[in-house]
Amino acid sequence: MSEKTSLYVVPTPIGNLEDFTFRAVRILKEVDFILAEDTRSTGNLFKHYGIDKKLISHHQFNEHKTIENILDRIKDGATFALVSDAGTPAISDPGFLLVRACIRENIRVECLPGPTAFVPALVNSGIASDHFVFEGFLPHKKGRHTRLSELADEKRTMIFYESPHRLVKSLYQLTEYFGADRFACVCRELTKLYEETVRGSLAELIIHFEKKRVKGEIVIVVEGKK
Ligand code: SAM
Repeated sequence: MSEKTSLYVVPTPIGNLEDFTFRAVRILKEVDFILAEDTRSTGNLFKHYGIDKKLISHHQFNEHKTIENILDRIKDGATFALVSDAGTPAISDPGFLLVRACIRENIRVECLPGPTAFVPALVNSGIASDHFVFEGFLPHKKGRHTRLSELADEKRTMIFYESPHRLVKSLYQLTEYFGADRFACVCRELTKLYEETVRGSLAELIIHFEKKRVKGEIVIVVEGKK
């Protein structure tokens, strides 16, 4: 394993711009190249922090093709940072393939600790946080019911990422597998102006969210089976 870190995985704020660490900003200013999932939104964030670097587009549609080139540049001595649109890369975002490819080539990778949506959601929920499973996004169509039936007997706390327009439909589906009385929590717009945390049974959450047009980003935390 090389001594020098050649790939830094750098979390970025999930809403509140103050949630960027000093170290993250320093490393982004120091590396040779920055790989960004969305160069436009990352460009805006970086402007705020005076990070003036050319961004290289790295997203789920090109990551398979670009990895070889990145590895070649790293072998020539270049250092890279990887950022996603928001939060920690490789958590429901591109990053895993590049990290794995570097590790296979004995290239040193370092992931900085920092913002990610599921940790504050889990802690805010008040649901047991000693053991949990992160499910990310459920499959939209194929495999969705299979995944939910596999989780029906799960005893650990479960965490799901969800889009606002699917929230109510998903809450209904969760009641089919976990029962309407299962305790859960919906965290919406974490760290942002209209942050909202709603706790209650799945049935109560449906009543709350069915009444309005749901907007923003969402994490659902569901208690495990007792
Ligand atoms: N890499 C990110 C992370 O570390 O959390 C996740 C990226 S994933 C493409 C985007 C999803 O994360 C959103 O659809 C939502 O489920 C969740 N998310 C991101 N930011 C959020 C926020 N501020 N509040 C609630 N959920 C959020």
